Amino acid sequence: MIKYLSEYRDPVNAKKILAQIRKVVTRPWVIMEVCGGQTHAIVRSGMDQALPAEIDLVHGPGCPVCVTPLETIDRALAIAAKPEVIFCSFGDMLRVPGSGKDLLTVRSAGGDVRIVYSPLEALELARQNPERQVVFLAIGFETTAPGNAMAIVQAEREGLHNFSELACHVLVPPAITALLGSPENRVQGYLAAGHVCTVMGLTEYEEISRRYKVPIVATGLEPNDILEGLLMLVRQLEAGRFEVENQYKRSVRHQGNVLARQMVSEVFEVVDQKWRGIGELPASGLRIRQRFAVFDAARKFGCESLQVEESKICISGVVLQGLKKPGDCPAFGRECKPEHPLGATMVSGEGACSAYYKYKLPIILSV
Ligand code: SF4
Repeated sequence: MIKYLSEYRDPVNAKKILAQIRKVVTRPWVIMEVCGGQTHAIVRSGMDQALPAEIDLVHGPGCPVCVTPLETIDRALAIAAKPEVIFCSFGDMLRVPGSGKDLLTVRSAGGDVRIVYSPLEALELARQNPERQVVFLAIGFETTAPGNAMAIVQAEREGLHNFSELACHVLVPPAITALLGSPENRVQGYLAAGHVCTVMGLTEYEEISRRYKVPIVATGLEPNDILEGLLMLVRQLEAGRFEVENQYKRSVRHQGNVLARQMVSEVFEVVDQKWRGIGELPASGLRIRQRFAVFDAARKFGCESLQVEESKICISGVVLQGLKKPGDCPAFGRECKPEHPLGATMVSGEGACSAYYKYKLPIILSV
């Protein structure tokens, strides 16, 4: 039995799983890993090169920084520039380009923009600074929603009305449904993000798997987790099965984390949501309920209705749908680099373009 993290990265184990995949695969299969963390593990470890040529791995929309719509970034920029505001965010959002600038630019112009590691840190700042408005940029998938919901419930308990969240949560199953329903879809099997399933469980995926006759495997983020998940998927594909299986049993329970889900639905309601580069997907986001409106920064600062246009050059939308790879973008490594990102997939630590830039740049530019 595996006990230590290093064993999930052990090359000897990896070779054994790879050999099993080679033995099972007989035909070409297109498989999507949904999570940006998995994309980085795949590219960093060179797994995509080591897999048999029959397996074409495409990268999904599971990087929350990448899919946060431009409107949300522009709202964040507008709020963060206000003198009464302490604007709190995870670090990787600071360089995500809005329509004209990013949060770092706002900070260098005098805005009080601070990096925090949890919404609870922002709550603490609200306690310490009752004369200021403290705003937390609450983005992410189902994984960060419980903590952000909890911060709002706690703020209400303490009467911290100077705390609010600029919330933009996205949900994975509606995105997979939209990809599968697209006439351009070519993905035949999915590695679902294990950490999302830890919160949400497997039931939503079972419905998708039945409806679209597609196998889905809830999979962890370490290289050998991903290889095992791929082996389970390929076995299903080769046998013509389409089921939901759980590779990440050390964390994922069938019903997920029931208390966390209850907390999320107490504070948030499901709404149609715009995804950066992809567009609006039905019932794919979370909005703060009216009951907690006082903690909703978009309502508090009156910037709910902001509309903006996406960049014409960046093709991150099609990259996030698995239709193209970062190397297919003419701007990759040329006009678009981590120092001058044109799209969020180059900025984020989980973005597919940044993974390719970090680990594959010389190969791509030499072609
Ligand atoms: S390389 Fe840059 S411009 Fe091209 S898709 Fe990626 S983020 Fe967009």
